Amino acid sequence: MENIVILGGGIAGITAADEIRKKNAGVAITIIEQEHHPLYSRVLLPHYVKGKIPREKVFLKTWEWYANHNIEIMAGVRVEAIDIPNRFVRTSEGRELPFGVLILAGGGELNVIGGEPRGVSYLRGIDDADELVGLLKETLMRPEGDRRGVVYGSGFIAMEYINIFKHFGISCDVVMRGKGFWSSVLSDHSQSVLAKKLLDGGALLHTNEAEPTILGEREVSGVKLSSGAEIACSILGVGIGMHADQSFYRDCGIDIDRGIIVSEYLETAHPLVYAIGDGAQFFDTNVARHVVYGNWMNAQSQGRAVAKTICGERAPFNLVSSYATHLFDMHIVFIGDVDRKAADEITQTVEADSASVEEFYRNGRIVGAVLIGDISGRATITARIAGRE
Ligand SMILES: Cc1cc2nc3c(=O)[nH]c(=O)nc-3n(C[C@H](O)[C@H](O)[C@H](O)COP(=O)(O)OP(=O)(O)OC[C@H]3O[C@@H](n4cnc5c(N)ncnc54)[C@H](O)[C@@H]3O)c2cc1C
Repeated sequence: MENIVILGGGIAGITAADEIRKKNAGVAITIIEQEHHPLYSRVLLPHYVKGKIPREKVFLKTWEWYANHNIEIMAGVRVEAIDIPNRFVRTSEGRELPFGVLILAGGGELNVIGGEPRGVSYLRGIDDADELVGLLKETLMRPEGDRRGVVYGSGFIAMEYINIFKHFGISCDVVMRGKGFWSSVLSDHSQSVLAKKLLDGGALLHTNEAEPTILGEREVSGVKLSSGAEIACSILGVGIGMHADQSFYRDCGIDIDRGIIVSEYLETAHPLVYAIGDGAQFFDTNVARHVVYGNWMNAQSQGRAVAKTICGERAPFNLVSSYATHLFDMHIVFIGDVDRKAADEITQTVEADSASVEEFYRNGRIVGAVLIGDISGRATITARIAGRE
Protein backbone atom coordinates (compact mmCIF):
# COMPACT_ATOMS: atom_id res chain seq x y z
CA MET A 1 0.00 0.00 0.00
CA GLU A 2 1.22 3.52 -0.82
CA ASN A 3 1.77 6.12 1.90
CA ILE A 4 -1.26 7.62 3.65
CA VAL A 5 -1.62 11.32 4.42
CA ILE A 6 -4.37 12.46 6.78
CA LEU A 7 -5.49 16.10 6.86
CA GLY A 8 -6.69 16.71 10.42
CA GLY A 9 -5.69 15.15 13.72
CA GLY A 10 -9.10 15.15 15.41
CA ILE A 11 -10.95 12.03 16.47
CA ALA A 12 -11.83 11.05 12.88
CA GLY A 13 -8.26 11.36 11.57
CA ILE A 14 -6.57 9.74 14.56
CA THR A 15 -9.03 6.85 14.67
CA ALA A 16 -8.38 6.22 10.98
CA ALA A 17 -4.60 6.25 11.58
CA ASP A 18 -4.87 3.97 14.61
CA GLU A 19 -7.09 1.43 12.83
CA ILE A 20 -4.97 1.40 9.67
CA ARG A 21 -1.86 0.82 11.79
CA LYS A 22 -3.58 -2.14 13.52
CA LYS A 23 -4.22 -3.69 10.11
CA ASN A 24 -0.96 -2.75 8.43
CA ALA A 25 2.26 -2.47 10.42
CA GLY A 26 4.37 -1.16 7.55
CA VAL A 27 2.49 1.52 5.63
CA ALA A 28 3.73 5.09 6.17
CA ILE A 29 1.09 7.29 7.85
CA THR A 30 1.43 11.08 8.21
CA ILE A 31 -1.08 13.29 9.98
CA ILE A 32 -1.04 17.05 9.36
CA GLU A 33 -2.71 19.01 12.15
CA GLN A 34 -2.72 22.78 12.43
CA GLU A 35 -3.17 22.75 16.21
CA HIS A 36 -0.20 22.21 18.54
CA HIS A 37 -1.74 19.50 20.72
CA PRO A 38 -1.99 15.73 20.64
CA LEU A 39 -5.55 14.39 20.29
CA TYR A 40 -7.96 15.64 22.94
CA SER A 41 -11.69 15.31 23.48
CA ARG A 42 -13.71 18.33 22.41
CA VAL A 43 -16.66 16.70 24.21
CA LEU A 44 -14.82 17.03 27.53
CA LEU A 45 -13.93 20.72 27.11
CA PRO A 46 -17.04 22.02 28.92
CA HIS A 47 -16.30 19.64 31.83
CA TYR A 48 -12.76 21.00 32.05
CA VAL A 49 -14.00 24.61 31.88
CA LYS A 50 -16.42 23.91 34.74
CA GLY A 51 -13.55 22.45 36.79
CA LYS A 52 -15.16 19.01 36.86
CA ILE A 53 -12.08 17.34 35.39
CA PRO A 54 -8.43 18.45 35.36
CA ARG A 55 -6.99 19.74 32.08
CA GLU A 56 -4.80 16.67 31.51
CA LYS A 57 -7.86 14.38 31.48
CA VAL A 58 -9.06 16.10 28.30
CA PHE A 59 -6.17 14.58 26.34
CA LEU A 60 -6.74 11.20 24.71
CA LYS A 61 -3.23 10.69 23.30
CA THR A 62 0.32 11.68 24.20
CA TRP A 63 3.10 12.59 21.73
CA GLU A 64 4.70 9.23 22.62
CA TRP A 65 1.62 7.42 21.35
CA TYR A 66 2.24 8.70 17.80
CA ALA A 67 5.91 7.71 17.94
CA ASN A 68 5.14 4.29 19.43
CA HIS A 69 2.68 3.58 16.63
CA ASN A 70 5.07 4.81 13.96
CA ILE A 71 2.62 7.52 12.94
CA GLU A 72 4.21 10.79 11.88
CA ILE A 73 2.36 13.82 13.25
CA MET A 74 3.09 17.24 11.77
CA ALA A 75 1.60 19.46 14.49
CA GLY A 76 1.19 23.19 14.04
CA VAL A 77 1.22 22.71 10.27
CA ARG A 78 -1.64 23.59 7.95
CA VAL A 79 -2.48 22.02 4.61
CA GLU A 80 -2.81 24.99 2.28
CA ALA A 81 -3.39 23.33 -1.07
CA ILE A 82 -4.14 19.89 -2.46
CA ASP A 83 -3.03 18.74 -5.89
CA ILE A 84 -4.99 15.63 -6.71
CA PRO A 85 -3.68 14.89 -10.24
CA ASN A 86 -0.08 15.12 -9.03
CA ARG A 87 -0.90 13.57 -5.64
CA PHE A 88 0.63 15.93 -3.13
CA VAL A 89 -0.48 18.39 -0.47
CA ARG A 90 1.27 21.72 0.08
CA THR A 91 1.79 22.69 3.71
CA SER A 92 2.17 26.02 5.49
CA GLU A 93 5.89 25.19 5.76
CA GLY A 94 6.06 25.21 1.97
CA ARG A 95 6.58 21.46 1.70
CA GLU A 96 5.01 19.37 -1.03
CA LEU A 97 4.11 16.12 0.63
CA PRO A 98 3.27 13.27 -1.74
CA PHE A 99 0.41 10.92 -0.94
CA GLY A 100 -0.76 7.56 -2.20
CA VAL A 101 -3.99 7.77 -0.21
CA LEU A 102 -5.43 11.03 1.18
CA ILE A 103 -7.95 11.17 4.01
CA LEU A 104 -9.66 14.53 4.54
CA ALA A 105 -10.57 14.76 8.22
CA GLY A 106 -10.43 18.52 8.75
CA GLY A 107 -13.82 19.01 10.44
CA GLY A 108 -15.67 22.25 9.72
CA GLU A 109 -14.73 25.92 9.78
CA LEU A 110 -16.05 27.98 12.64
CA ASN A 111 -18.56 30.77 11.93
CA VAL A 112 -17.32 33.95 13.58
CA ILE A 113 -18.67 37.43 14.24
CA GLY A 114 -17.10 40.80 13.53
CA GLY A 115 -14.80 42.19 16.21
CA GLU A 116 -12.55 40.30 18.54
CA PRO A 117 -11.75 42.26 21.69
CA ARG A 118 -10.74 40.19 24.69
CA GLY A 119 -13.82 38.53 26.16
CA VAL A 120 -15.23 37.27 22.84
CA SER A 121 -15.09 33.51 23.31
CA TYR A 122 -15.44 30.56 20.91
CA LEU A 123 -15.46 27.11 22.45
CA ARG A 124 -13.93 25.09 19.62
CA GLY A 125 -10.61 23.79 20.95
CA ILE A 126 -8.48 23.46 24.05
CA ASP A 127 -6.86 26.89 23.48
CA ASP A 128 -10.33 28.47 23.53
CA ALA A 129 -11.17 26.50 26.67
CA ASP A 130 -7.97 27.71 28.40
CA GLU A 131 -8.84 31.29 27.50
CA LEU A 132 -12.40 30.87 28.76
CA VAL A 133 -11.13 29.48 32.08
CA GLY A 134 -9.12 32.71 32.49
CA LEU A 135 -12.06 34.93 31.55
CA LEU A 136 -14.34 33.11 33.99
CA LYS A 137 -11.82 33.52 36.81
CA GLU A 138 -11.65 37.27 36.19
CA THR A 139 -15.44 37.54 36.00
CA LEU A 140 -15.84 35.66 39.28
CA MET A 141 -13.52 38.17 40.98
CA ARG A 142 -16.02 40.94 40.24
CA PRO A 143 -18.77 41.90 42.73
CA GLU A 144 -21.71 39.45 42.54
CA GLY A 145 -24.12 41.75 40.64
CA ASP A 146 -21.44 42.49 38.07
CA ARG A 147 -20.81 38.93 36.86
CA ARG A 148 -22.46 38.96 33.49
CA GLY A 149 -22.19 36.83 30.38
CA VAL A 150 -23.96 36.97 27.01
CA VAL A 151 -24.40 34.02 24.67
CA TYR A 152 -24.88 34.55 20.94
CA GLY A 153 -26.28 31.48 19.21
CA SER A 154 -28.97 28.86 19.51
CA GLY A 155 -27.34 25.46 19.00
CA PHE A 156 -25.10 22.99 20.81
CA ILE A 157 -22.21 25.33 21.64
CA ALA A 158 -24.59 28.08 22.77
CA MET A 159 -26.09 25.48 25.11
CA GLU A 160 -22.63 24.78 26.54
CA TYR A 161 -22.07 28.46 27.34
CA ILE A 162 -25.49 28.74 29.02
CA ASN A 163 -24.70 25.72 31.21
CA ILE A 164 -21.22 27.07 32.01
CA PHE A 165 -22.56 30.48 33.07
CA LYS A 166 -25.24 28.78 35.18
CA HIS A 167 -22.61 26.56 36.79
CA PHE A 168 -20.65 29.60 37.94
CA GLY A 169 -23.67 31.71 38.89
CA ILE A 170 -22.94 34.24 36.14
CA SER A 171 -26.03 36.04 34.84
CA CYS A 172 -26.81 35.12 31.26
CA ASP A 173 -28.58 36.80 28.36
CA VAL A 174 -29.05 34.66 25.27
CA VAL A 175 -29.22 36.41 21.90
CA MET A 176 -30.44 34.47 18.84
CA ARG A 177 -30.94 35.14 15.17
CA GLY A 178 -33.98 32.86 14.96
CA LYS A 179 -37.09 32.56 17.06
CA GLY A 180 -35.69 29.92 19.39
CA PHE A 181 -33.19 27.11 19.91
CA TRP A 182 -32.46 25.07 16.74
CA SER A 183 -35.22 26.90 14.88
CA SER A 184 -34.52 25.01 11.62
CA VAL A 185 -35.03 21.70 13.44
CA LEU A 186 -37.53 22.09 16.26
CA SER A 187 -41.26 22.77 16.32
CA ASP A 188 -42.59 25.89 18.01
CA HIS A 189 -43.64 23.75 20.94
CA SER A 190 -40.19 22.21 21.46
CA GLN A 191 -38.65 25.66 21.24
CA SER A 192 -41.11 26.96 23.84
CA VAL A 193 -40.24 24.05 26.19
CA LEU A 194 -36.58 25.07 25.99
CA ALA A 195 -37.34 28.79 26.27
CA LYS A 196 -39.38 28.18 29.42
CA LYS A 197 -36.60 26.10 30.93
CA LEU A 198 -34.11 28.84 30.14
CA LEU A 199 -36.26 31.57 31.70
CA ASP A 200 -37.07 29.41 34.76
CA GLY A 201 -33.31 28.99 35.18
CA GLY A 202 -32.92 32.76 35.44
CA ALA A 203 -31.51 33.54 31.97
CA LEU A 204 -33.01 36.09 29.57
CA LEU A 205 -33.83 35.40 25.93
CA HIS A 206 -33.63 37.83 22.98
CA THR A 207 -34.92 36.22 19.77
CA ASN A 208 -35.03 37.31 16.09
CA GLU A 209 -31.99 39.49 16.64
CA ALA A 210 -29.32 40.60 14.19
CA GLU A 211 -25.69 39.99 15.10
CA PRO A 212 -25.08 42.05 18.26
CA THR A 213 -22.60 44.91 18.14
CA ILE A 214 -19.74 44.37 20.53
CA LEU A 215 -19.13 47.20 22.99
CA GLY A 216 -15.64 47.85 24.31
CA GLU A 217 -12.45 48.30 22.33
CA ARG A 218 -9.74 46.16 23.89
CA GLU A 219 -12.08 44.26 26.23
CA VAL A 220 -15.75 43.41 25.88
CA SER A 221 -17.91 45.61 28.09
CA GLY A 222 -21.24 44.58 26.62
CA VAL A 223 -23.29 44.11 23.47
CA LYS A 224 -25.80 46.31 21.69
CA LEU A 225 -28.90 44.68 20.19
CA SER A 226 -30.70 45.77 17.02
CA SER A 227 -33.38 47.42 19.20
CA GLY A 228 -30.66 49.68 20.59
CA ALA A 229 -30.76 48.01 24.01
CA GLU A 230 -27.36 47.49 25.61
CA ILE A 231 -26.44 44.51 27.79
CA ALA A 232 -23.33 44.78 29.95
CA CYS A 233 -21.09 41.69 30.07
CA SER A 234 -17.44 40.69 30.37
CA ILE A 235 -17.77 37.48 28.33
CA LEU A 236 -19.56 37.02 25.00
CA GLY A 237 -19.80 33.31 24.22
CA VAL A 238 -20.36 32.80 20.50
CA GLY A 239 -21.82 29.52 19.20
CA ILE A 240 -23.19 30.07 15.70
CA GLY A 241 -22.17 26.85 14.02
CA MET A 242 -19.71 25.71 11.40
CA HIS A 243 -19.46 25.77 7.64
CA ALA A 244 -17.52 23.92 4.97
CA ASP A 245 -14.42 25.65 3.60
CA GLN A 246 -15.82 26.03 0.08
CA SER A 247 -12.93 27.71 -1.73
CA PHE A 248 -10.23 25.48 -0.29
CA TYR A 249 -11.83 22.24 -1.52
CA ARG A 250 -13.30 23.66 -4.76
CA ASP A 251 -9.83 24.82 -5.75
CA CYS A 252 -8.59 21.25 -5.76
CA GLY A 253 -11.60 19.88 -7.59
CA ILE A 254 -13.33 18.22 -4.65
CA ASP A 255 -17.15 18.26 -4.68
CA ILE A 256 -18.41 20.30 -1.79
CA ASP A 257 -21.82 21.35 -0.58
CA ARG A 258 -22.42 21.55 3.18
CA GLY A 259 -19.42 19.23 3.50
CA ILE A 260 -17.16 17.19 1.23
CA ILE A 261 -19.41 14.93 -0.81
CA VAL A 262 -18.62 11.25 -0.31
CA SER A 263 -20.39 7.97 -0.93
CA GLU A 264 -21.51 5.47 1.71
CA TYR A 265 -17.93 4.16 1.42
CA LEU A 266 -16.65 7.64 2.40
CA GLU A 267 -15.00 7.91 -1.03
CA THR A 268 -14.85 11.20 -2.95
CA ALA A 269 -15.17 11.13 -6.73
CA HIS A 270 -11.35 10.83 -6.85
CA PRO A 271 -9.93 7.36 -6.34
CA LEU A 272 -7.91 7.07 -3.12
CA VAL A 273 -9.21 10.37 -1.68
CA TYR A 274 -11.63 9.95 1.23
CA ALA A 275 -13.44 12.31 3.63
CA ILE A 276 -14.62 11.53 7.16
CA GLY A 277 -15.99 13.19 10.28
CA ASP A 278 -17.62 16.60 10.73
CA GLY A 279 -16.37 17.78 7.35
CA ALA A 280 -17.90 14.94 5.32
CA GLN A 281 -21.31 15.03 3.68
CA PHE A 282 -21.76 11.31 3.26
CA PHE A 283 -24.50 9.13 1.83
CA ASP A 284 -26.25 7.76 4.90
CA THR A 285 -27.83 4.46 3.90
CA ASN A 286 -30.18 4.58 6.90
CA VAL A 287 -31.84 7.76 5.73
CA ALA A 288 -31.08 7.48 1.99
CA ARG A 289 -29.53 10.89 1.41
CA HIS A 290 -26.29 12.82 1.88
CA VAL A 291 -25.98 14.31 5.38
CA VAL A 292 -23.45 16.09 7.60
CA TYR A 293 -23.47 15.03 11.25
CA GLY A 294 -21.32 17.00 13.68
CA ASN A 295 -21.01 14.47 16.47
CA TRP A 296 -18.22 12.50 18.09
CA MET A 297 -19.68 9.03 17.55
CA ASN A 298 -20.07 9.62 13.83
CA ALA A 299 -16.53 11.02 13.40
CA GLN A 300 -14.91 8.19 15.34
CA SER A 301 -16.91 5.47 13.57
CA GLN A 302 -16.10 6.93 10.16
CA GLY A 303 -12.40 6.80 11.09
CA ARG A 304 -12.81 3.08 11.71
CA ALA A 305 -14.86 2.53 8.57
CA VAL A 306 -12.44 4.30 6.22
CA ALA A 307 -9.54 2.29 7.66
CA LYS A 308 -11.38 -0.91 6.75
CA THR A 309 -12.03 0.25 3.20
CA ILE A 310 -8.44 1.37 2.70
CA CYS A 311 -7.16 -1.94 4.05
CA GLY A 312 -9.27 -3.97 1.65
CA GLU A 313 -12.38 -4.68 3.75
CA ARG A 314 -14.63 -2.30 1.77
CA ALA A 315 -18.10 -2.03 3.30
CA PRO A 316 -20.71 0.75 3.40
CA PHE A 317 -20.63 2.95 6.48
CA ASN A 318 -23.66 2.27 8.60
CA LEU A 319 -24.45 3.99 11.88
CA VAL A 320 -27.34 5.85 13.44
CA SER A 321 -25.48 8.48 15.42
CA SER A 322 -26.75 10.93 17.98
CA TYR A 323 -25.76 14.03 19.95
CA ALA A 324 -26.80 14.34 23.59
CA THR A 325 -26.75 17.62 25.45
CA HIS A 326 -28.68 19.35 28.22
CA LEU A 327 -30.15 22.66 29.28
CA PHE A 328 -29.51 22.82 33.02
CA ASP A 329 -31.02 19.47 34.19
CA MET A 330 -33.15 18.93 31.07
CA HIS A 331 -31.81 16.27 28.70
CA ILE A 332 -31.88 16.76 24.92
CA VAL A 333 -30.96 14.15 22.30
CA PHE A 334 -30.78 14.52 18.52
CA ILE A 335 -30.80 11.20 16.63
CA GLY A 336 -30.18 10.69 12.91
CA ASP A 337 -31.42 13.10 10.24
CA VAL A 338 -33.39 15.94 11.83
CA ASP A 339 -33.46 18.44 8.97
CA ARG A 340 -37.00 19.83 9.07
CA LYS A 341 -36.95 20.87 5.40
CA ALA A 342 -35.89 17.39 4.24
CA ALA A 343 -38.65 15.58 6.16
CA ASP A 344 -42.05 14.97 4.59
CA GLU A 345 -43.79 14.28 7.87
CA ILE A 346 -43.00 15.22 11.46
CA THR A 347 -44.92 13.89 14.42
CA GLN A 348 -44.77 15.23 17.93
CA THR A 349 -45.61 13.77 21.32
CA VAL A 350 -46.01 16.47 23.91
CA GLU A 351 -46.03 16.21 27.67
CA ALA A 352 -47.17 19.51 29.14
CA ASP A 353 -44.39 22.06 28.95
CA SER A 354 -41.63 19.81 30.19
CA ALA A 355 -41.02 17.26 27.44
CA SER A 356 -41.42 16.60 23.77
CA VAL A 357 -40.49 13.92 21.24
CA GLU A 358 -40.42 14.87 17.57
CA GLU A 359 -40.03 12.15 14.95
CA PHE A 360 -38.94 12.98 11.39
CA TYR A 361 -40.21 10.78 8.50
CA ARG A 362 -39.35 10.54 4.81
CA ASN A 363 -41.02 8.23 2.32
CA GLY A 364 -42.90 6.57 5.16
CA ARG A 365 -39.74 5.74 7.15
CA ILE A 366 -38.49 7.29 10.36
CA VAL A 367 -35.15 9.03 9.68
CA GLY A 368 -34.56 11.10 12.80
CA ALA A 369 -35.86 12.29 16.15
CA VAL A 370 -35.34 14.93 18.82
CA LEU A 371 -36.09 14.01 22.42
CA ILE A 372 -36.40 16.77 25.01
CA GLY A 373 -36.97 16.18 28.71
CA ASP A 374 -37.83 12.48 28.56
CA ILE A 375 -35.12 10.67 26.58
CA SER A 376 -36.07 7.14 27.60
CA GLY A 377 -37.09 6.32 24.00
CA ARG A 378 -33.57 6.90 22.65
CA ALA A 379 -32.54 3.26 22.10
CA THR A 380 -35.89 2.23 20.58
CA ILE A 381 -35.95 5.15 18.15
CA THR A 382 -32.32 4.50 17.16
CA ALA A 383 -33.23 0.87 16.36
CA ARG A 384 -36.27 2.00 14.35
CA ILE A 385 -34.15 4.39 12.26
CA ALA A 386 -31.67 1.56 11.66
CA GLY A 387 -34.56 -0.63 10.52
CA ARG A 388 -33.97 -3.12 13.32
CA GLU A 389 -37.49 -2.69 14.75
C1 LIG B 1 -17.08 22.27 22.97
C2 LIG B 1 -17.58 21.11 22.17
C3 LIG B 1 -18.39 20.17 22.78
C4 LIG B 1 -18.86 19.08 22.06
N1 LIG B 1 -19.67 18.18 22.68
C5 LIG B 1 -20.10 17.10 22.00
C6 LIG B 1 -20.93 16.12 22.64
O1 LIG B 1 -21.27 16.24 23.82
N2 LIG B 1 -21.29 15.03 21.91
C7 LIG B 1 -20.93 14.87 20.60
O2 LIG B 1 -21.28 13.85 20.00
N3 LIG B 1 -20.17 15.78 19.97
C8 LIG B 1 -19.75 16.89 20.64
N4 LIG B 1 -18.97 17.82 19.99
C9 LIG B 1 -18.68 17.63 18.56
C10 LIG B 1 -17.50 16.69 18.38
O3 LIG B 1 -16.44 17.10 19.19
C11 LIG B 1 -17.11 16.67 16.91
O4 LIG B 1 -18.19 16.12 16.18
C12 LIG B 1 -15.85 15.88 16.64
O5 LIG B 1 -14.77 16.38 17.37
C13 LIG B 1 -15.53 15.90 15.15
O6 LIG B 1 -14.31 15.26 14.94
P1 LIG B 1 -13.51 15.46 13.57
O7 LIG B 1 -12.25 14.69 13.73
O8 LIG B 1 -14.39 15.17 12.42
O9 LIG B 1 -13.23 17.01 13.48
P2 LIG B 1 -12.35 17.93 14.44
O10 LIG B 1 -12.39 17.48 15.85
O11 LIG B 1 -12.80 19.32 14.14
O12 LIG B 1 -10.87 17.73 13.90
C14 LIG B 1 -10.45 18.25 12.67
C15 LIG B 1 -9.03 18.72 12.83
O13 LIG B 1 -8.53 19.11 11.55
C16 LIG B 1 -7.67 20.22 11.72
N5 LIG B 1 -7.59 20.91 10.42
C17 LIG B 1 -8.60 21.49 9.73
N6 LIG B 1 -8.17 22.00 8.57
C18 LIG B 1 -6.83 21.75 8.53
C19 LIG B 1 -5.83 22.05 7.58
N7 LIG B 1 -6.10 22.67 6.42
N8 LIG B 1 -4.57 21.66 7.86
C20 LIG B 1 -4.27 21.00 9.02
N9 LIG B 1 -5.20 20.70 9.96
C21 LIG B 1 -6.46 21.06 9.71
C22 LIG B 1 -8.34 21.03 12.80
O14 LIG B 1 -7.39 21.83 13.48
C23 LIG B 1 -8.92 19.95 13.71
O15 LIG B 1 -8.11 19.66 14.82
C24 LIG B 1 -18.50 18.92 20.70
C25 LIG B 1 -17.67 19.87 20.08
C26 LIG B 1 -17.21 20.96 20.81
C27 LIG B 1 -16.32 21.96 20.13
